[in-house]
Amino acid sequence: MTQRDQEIAERLALVKGTLSQVCTRTQSSVELVAVSKTFPAEAVLAAALAGQSIFGENYAQEGCAKVDWFKENHPECKLVWHFIGPLQANKTRPVAERFDWVDSVDRMRIAKRLNDQRPEGLPPLNVLIEVNISGQQSKSGVMPEELQAVAREIAKLPRLKLRGLMAIPEPAEEDEAVRSPLRAMKALFDAYKDEFGWDTLSMGMSADMVQAVEEGATMVRVGSAIFGERHYPAKA
Ligand SMILES: *Cc1c(COP(=O)(O)O)cnc(C)c1O
Repeated sequence: MTQRDQEIAERLALVKGTLSQVCTRTQSSVELVAVSKTFPAEAVLAAALAGQSIFGENYAQEGCAKVDWFKENHPECKLVWHFIGPLQANKTRPVAERFDWVDSVDRMRIAKRLNDQRPEGLPPLNVLIEVNISGQQSKSGVMPEELQAVAREIAKLPRLKLRGLMAIPEPAEEDEAVRSPLRAMKALFDAYKDEFGWDTLSMGMSADMVQAVEEGATMVRVGSAIFGERHYPAKA
């Protein structure tokens, strides 16, 4: 084991410990998606060997390459892959062919393409609708007022399985500012979960995973707290 692998295993254990404490305190349970964007497949392997099986990727090309690397080199690792980043229409096919979930569905055009491109031999693709909960113009996501109509359309697509909602609230420092979009997401989730049979509310990252679970997340997406600081390649 390299030193990096050992650090990943230690940080993963810390994150799991933090989550298990808050779950005990709030009598809830949460699934952990380990966000491995920008980190090599070997780092994902270190986390997998330490017991993590659910991973999230943001970029289509990088994510697909990692899924393929595991299929090729470690078929014994039974991993579940979530695509969590912005998805362009011309990148939907490789994602529909490889991933188990797409958590960032933010418009019908993307949902329809994923539905049409999901291979017959695979189970339906699990999807979450990304909600623009902080109302930022620049952010992707369905506006809360449009959510029910979009969800009804997506629910009709036979090769997709609509499991719930995802949000990336605007980063905030103050506790109340962190919690208010999380509460708004929980209220939206509760408003429609019976109509659509939803079981998944994905919110909370390294900085706000504890508050997210306290406010009702069933899934958190944690990157830097497990893999360390990200270094983005300089833009060409
Ligand atoms: C990068 C990313 C995360 C993880 O963020 P950390 O702060 O590193 O935990 C979670 N969700 C999405 C959509 C991301 O892009």
